[in-house]
Amino acid sequence: MSLLHVWQRLYRQASRSPLQPLDHPLLERHRISLSIKRDDLLHPHISGNKWRKLKYILRQALTEQAPGLLSFGGAYSNHLHALAAAGKQLGLPTVGLVRGEPHSVANPTLSDARRWGMTLEFVERAEYRRRQDPDWLAALADRHPGYRLIPEGGSEPLALPGVAELWRELPAADELILPLASGGTLAGLLSARPPGVRLTGYAVLKGHGWLAATVQQLYPPAARDDGWRLQLDHHGGGYAKCPGDDRERITRLASALAVPLEPVYSGKAMLGLFRDIEAGMYPAGSRLIFLHTGGLQGARGGL
Ligand SMILES: *Cc1c(COP(=O)(O)O)cnc(C)c1O
Repeated sequence: MSLLHVWQRLYRQASRSPLQPLDHPLLERHRISLSIKRDDLLHPHISGNKWRKLKYILRQALTEQAPGLLSFGGAYSNHLHALAAAGKQLGLPTVGLVRGEPHSVANPTLSDARRWGMTLEFVERAEYRRRQDPDWLAALADRHPGYRLIPEGGSEPLALPGVAELWRELPAADELILPLASGGTLAGLLSARPPGVRLTGYAVLKGHGWLAATVQQLYPPAARDDGWRLQLDHHGGGYAKCPGDDRERITRLASALAVPLEPVYSGKAMLGLFRDIEAGMYPAGSRLIFLHTGGLQGARGGL
């Protein structure tokens, strides 16, 4: 069977993720209807938005017969984890550049990636910062000739069409809420936003000033679209940081809603959303959908 058939099967086998209505006293009090799109259930290993973002990048790598895939990430990276799993399924070698020292970053994410055949190269923080520097990238390409280079988080223009397909699976709504880091998921959704549905991205990192620009870089028409906004006040101190009290609130929220949440993306964004509902930011009668972008694997290491 050709690799493209394996790709087709990979993207056919993952059934549409369910949409689940949520109950909570706060929602009732503010007369908000909230459902959650469970993209965490899309695929057992290639979770959530990474499954969608990688879709056409993988197809391109296969049609261009790239000898392998190469990308970057932190030690708990959902993107590297998903890429390793996808590479294994497609029979494509993968290389992951991991920020940090090997001894300081042994965890279940990286063990899975290794088990699925990903070659891990550890990069010190100072050097990792050069990952967009053309000279550094050229040297990297020399070491891995022909490999398809994928940016951190899988966010590049070719990630957008796979994400845009999500709209076909959603009912009518007033607003779609999602966690936001590198902006690729929001950009993909914006690229096919039905009129009348507003998008709100809850930033999970400190990104005043440049986050909106990142979205616009990935999808330039975003500059002329007033149907999206970023919530920048709920980052909890920065990427992967989560104060102890918030961690507890996320655990309680997950159990009240009967939905698994982790503190880096889905939990942080959901907590931010609940705070904003409480603050009256969403008018009574609003029909909201929260996109669960997956990433539960990252919380196994005791984040
Ligand atoms: C990568 C990731 C995000 C961030 O998506 P961006 O497209 O980078 O904004 C959100 N949630 C989860 C679970 C992720 O793994």
